[in-house]
Amino acid sequence: MMRLILLGPPGAGKGTQAGLLKKRYSIPQVSTGDILRQAVAEGTPLGIQARSYMGKGVLVPDEVVIRIVRERLKKPDCEKGYILDGFPRTVVQAQAFEAMDEPLDHALSLEVQEEELVRRLTGRRICETCGALFHIDFRLPRDSGICDQCGGRLSQRDDDREETVRRRLEVYRAETASLMDHYARRGILWRVEGQGTVQEVFRRILEVLEGAEARRSGRRSS
Ligand code: AMP
Repeated sequence: MMRLILLGPPGAGKGTQAGLLKKRYSIPQVSTGDILRQAVAEGTPLGIQARSYMGKGVLVPDEVVIRIVRERLKKPDCEKGYILDGFPRTVVQAQAFEAMDEPLDHALSLEVQEEELVRRLTGRRICETCGALFHIDFRLPRDSGICDQCGGRLSQRDDDREETVRRRLEVYRAETASLMDHYARRGILWRVEGQGTVQEVFRRILEVLEGAEARRSGRRSS
């Protein structure tokens, strides 16, 4: 059983690393951004409500995302743990999550400098069909504009345009950065250098997690 939270600014690599962790530990990745984007694509009432916030790069209201997460975590695939990616983003969300009585094991913070974040986000391309991620400098698809995994069309997320990216980074500093203290005080925050290749960052995460798990089981048996 492992319940993880990935923290860090937009573009830090949360989605990418959550995808690798999901395979490694066979637990689902719960991404509020993905759930919301899907609702927007399907034009559901949730999507219609979320769309204007997302397009501007600001946060969707707390009660909306809290409801999404509460429903998602009730599904049977979450019984053995999960990786939360993009939630919580405010102290109110963190408190609501605590009230769901799902004890967290680790919060990993991916740390990347701002200019690198802008470069990663503005160059990012996403498959319109399956959500796979590509990048115009770091991860080109085999055929230009086409997803390697499913053949879907690649496009830029509306909120990955430079102006919106800057706004999302401001929102992160103003509303989300303080969560680091929240988890540091609980003794479960692990800071991981997020620069470097995907595999380098993943290795650092595994080292941190394995060390933290070993200490945890040491405490349990002593
Ligand atoms: P992401 O894919 O995590 O970068 O999220 C994309 C957008 O979805 C954000 O800019 C927000 O508008 C919205 N969003 C995702 N997760 C949350 C959350 N936990 N709280 C509020 N808004 C969110």
